[in-house]
Amino acid sequence: MRTAASRLAATQAEGDTVRIGKFGIVLLAMSTAVNAHGIKQPYVVVIDPGHGGHDPGAISPVGGGAEKSVTLSIARAVRDRLSNKRGLRIILTRSDDRFITLVGRRAAAEARHANLFLSIHADSAPDPSARGASIYTLREDGRPVVVRRIAATSSYDGVSGGSFDPDVASILGDLKQRDAMNDSAGFAVSLAADLAPVIAMRSQPRLSAHFAVLKAEGIPAVLLETGYVTNRKDVDVLFSGRGQKRVAKAIAKAIEQTADEAD
Ligand SMILES: [Zn+2]
Repeated sequence: MRTAASRLAATQAEGDTVRIGKFGIVLLAMSTAVNAHGIKQPYVVVIDPGHGGHDPGAISPVGGGAEKSVTLSIARAVRDRLSNKRGLRIILTRSDDRFITLVGRRAAAEARHANLFLSIHADSAPDPSARGASIYTLREDGRPVVVRRIAATSSYDGVSGGSFDPDVASILGDLKQRDAMNDSAGFAVSLAADLAPVIAMRSQPRLSAHFAVLKAEGIPAVLLETGYVTNRKDVDVLFSGRGQKRVAKAIAKAIEQTADEAD
């Protein structure tokens, strides 16, 4: 007879293991995904170049151009840097100038069972002196809504009897999302450290928000604002091939480090 734990484990994606413990359930999220045959799965990173198509994003009033082109150039450069790295798979939500909805972007990460989701944007402000990059993760009070979605889409069999148990699904969803948000914070720290030497950062670069793209179900999600299209110095970096390469190199370094630590 299969135990509830084994049924549960079988329903968890990404190699998670579940134990029935003192309080009902303990979820052990394995950082390295190994499939049923013991073959190591690649670390999947979905990179999301913000805006696109009829949505240009912010337009630079001081030269440069549209945010949608900066985000795409940087995302492509990150992909190119990492495309031959063993154990890493980089997927872009768009690799050309097309529009994708916010939910569609996050759904792309969910469909690929991404280990990490990074959305790339550029900022704008009325004050032309505002400059620097910032890094957003999901605000803590945004967690319940994601947990409800995870629970609602869970195919989990209940502990007692094989029917869907909404309470257990909710507990599992909560653990999964907490884990994802911890990993988001870890990646945000790495990203800030790797970007700081190459581009200006806001004085408090780590921020949190309720952005739709940060609400991928159980997936660490980070949104990078690479700088301001309204600031001349930031524009010099963001709209130059050399500057974009430097930013991409720093992002790639943070991704590699995070993937290595997940081994
Ligand atoms: Zn944007």
